[in-house]
Amino acid sequence: MPPLHALGIDIGSTTAKIVGVDEQGRMVWHILEQAEPRVEAQVERFLERASREFGPLDGVPIVATGYGRRLVGQTARQVTEISCHTRGVFCEFGRGGTLVDIGGQDSKVIAISPQGKVIDFAMNDKCAAGTGRFLENTASRLRVPLERLGEEALSTSEEFSLSSTCTVFAESEVISLIAHGVPLPSILRGLHRALIKRIAAMIRTVGLTPPLMLSGGVAQNPAIRLMLEEETGEEIILPRQPQLVGAQGAALLALENHNK
Ligand code: ADP
Repeated sequence: MPPLHALGIDIGSTTAKIVGVDEQGRMVWHILEQAEPRVEAQVERFLERASREFGPLDGVPIVATGYGRRLVGQTARQVTEISCHTRGVFCEFGRGGTLVDIGGQDSKVIAISPQGKVIDFAMNDKCAAGTGRFLENTASRLRVPLERLGEEALSTSEEFSLSSTCTVFAESEVISLIAHGVPLPSILRGLHRALIKRIAAMIRTVGLTPPLMLSGGVAQNPAIRLMLEEETGEEIILPRQPQLVGAQGAALLALENHNK
């Protein structure tokens, strides 16, 4: 086991992640779990596992980010998700561009300079439409596993345009369409389209400078990737572990601050 030189913890609305990096900032360890209501207990468990695997963590710098970062504890420095995502994705690609992050309950678009600095950003954390929750709710109502949702949507070229963009209304609309015999894949395609339209509107407010990069759990959905490419006309480049970008950036910022 290589020694751990810094840790990044990203407490999102849906998942909790911890990433450990070595002296060179390479990701050497991580855990990703569903977020628990008791953040402190979950973080404590993460840190216990880290010390069991790597030895005592005294002096290992920690940065916490995400929606629940304030609950992480005294020893961790808090940094915004915008800064951590920017740092994480810049480490991966070493260039500027436009990062779209679609998480469980928020989505953001960040314009990143060629030097890896934040130029501008837009964030939606007020409405579930335009976030992973929009797809997740419907997937569970339709009993389609989340991991299959994108493939199902791509299994047809027919697309049913939904009239509701609100998550709650879209869910009932989808149920009623199924009852009227509209094929599931074309409804799912329409559902993905509704989310993509929200994201595209956010991209327009920030502007798109290629390359277009995608992070967050929803980046694992192939229909989202394809439809976002269609909607923007830009090819997407994907980090190796899109859901860990924030925690990875947090660990790097911890390491760099410590080395100053
Ligand atoms: P947060 O950081 O806001 O807690 P994440 O970036 O972890 O959120 O993303 C969680 C979202 O990712 C879930 O709402 C879900 O929609 C989506 N997701 C997670 N795993 C998959 C998968 N295998 N395929 C498609 N979507 C996924």
